[in-house]
Amino acid sequence: MEKTSLYFHIPFCRRRCGYCDFNTFDGLNSYIPEYVDAICQEIIEVLAKTPNPLSVHTIYFGGGTPSLLTIGQYEEIFKTLSRNVWIEKDAEITLEANPETVTRNYITELKALGFNRISFGMQSSSPEDLRILDRRHKFESVVNAVMWSKQAGFLHINLDLIFGIPMQSRESWRNSLRLAFGFGIDHLSIYSLIVEESTRLKYWIDRGLISEPDNDLGASMYEDAMDILEQEGYQQYEISNWSRGEESQCRHNLQYWRYLPYLGFGAGAHGFYGNIRTQNFGTIPQYLQSLKDNRRNDFPASAAVCSTITLSQWDRIQENIMMSLRLTEEGINLDEFHARYGILLQSLFREQLHRLTARGLLEFSDQGKHLRLTRRGRLLGNQVFIEFIGNDIPKGYEYLNR
Ligand code: SF4
Repeated sequence: MEKTSLYFHIPFCRRRCGYCDFNTFDGLNSYIPEYVDAICQEIIEVLAKTPNPLSVHTIYFGGGTPSLLTIGQYEEIFKTLSRNVWIEKDAEITLEANPETVTRNYITELKALGFNRISFGMQSSSPEDLRILDRRHKFESVVNAVMWSKQAGFLHINLDLIFGIPMQSRESWRNSLRLAFGFGIDHLSIYSLIVEESTRLKYWIDRGLISEPDNDLGASMYEDAMDILEQEGYQQYEISNWSRGEESQCRHNLQYWRYLPYLGFGAGAHGFYGNIRTQNFGTIPQYLQSLKDNRRNDFPASAAVCSTITLSQWDRIQENIMMSLRLTEEGINLDEFHARYGILLQSLFREQLHRLTARGLLEFSDQGKHLRLTRRGRLLGNQVFIEFIGNDIPKGYEYLNR
């Protein structure tokens, strides 16, 4: 059976945060019951037409704010899933949650239902940072959420943190880091703030109400994270992710980084299966309507899919490199790459590899079996990735254009 992952997008938020440009909506929570029914319909439709039996080893509910759904609504989704697909006994099942939306009871019931990994958006411990990010929660709600999760028996707990926030000092960032690892949890995801177009944060910065993030300071904060977390026993395994050992790595996200298949459900969700990428209608009314219209689409697409892209072998090679180079320890397994595409990566990208290794951004590890970013390369990842995209197919390899 083919090992697959499932992603569910829950696009509801109580209120949109000032820096957020994700596919999320506030003021639409009254749609949630109808949305859950639609997700169940999409599950039935997609999984009824799989060409090979699937074995699901990770399930991820992301958002938005998945913790806005009730336990009963998750029960309904799990019932539908278990009737339609094989879920492995030790499957990783993750819920993303906003700390201010959960109660002790809710977390205990999530655990009883089968969730075994929970991820909270902490972002920062500083009230000033949280105000600039326009987040509603206080650090105290993170303290409670983590405590309740531990008491409920969650062994895998993640906190998301953001650095490079306008006016954030290095000391304040280090303090957030110290408080986050001080919980003794097994996973941290750490992101640099990106000021996205059409966000309130961008509007405030453009009008001079808030200063722009300082990129050099941001780079120093990232280095702080690498140094401090390593001293504290965390292993960086991806550009933005640290865990306490291999068994604590996020298996769902590893599926993306290893360029393996996943199916996406819900408004705006993406999927990747074989050589096909899918994308669902993005707004909630469009998504609900598409499932009512019930247009016929072949696997892996459901009626909710608004675009499918068929990738050539060359497209997949380039995407695979970009995704797998994010894995800072493992990088690209060159033997697996050869087995997957029937060609050596070194023959396709000779010049790029020469340039990037000479600049100290890429290195071969494990006796030349893996290719990965160096520490310097982690800071300048975009300069590496850009070398592997948009290239013409090298002479003699035109058959990769299929
Ligand atoms: S809670 Fe998360 S998804 Fe929702 S608006 Fe804020 S940052 Fe975006």
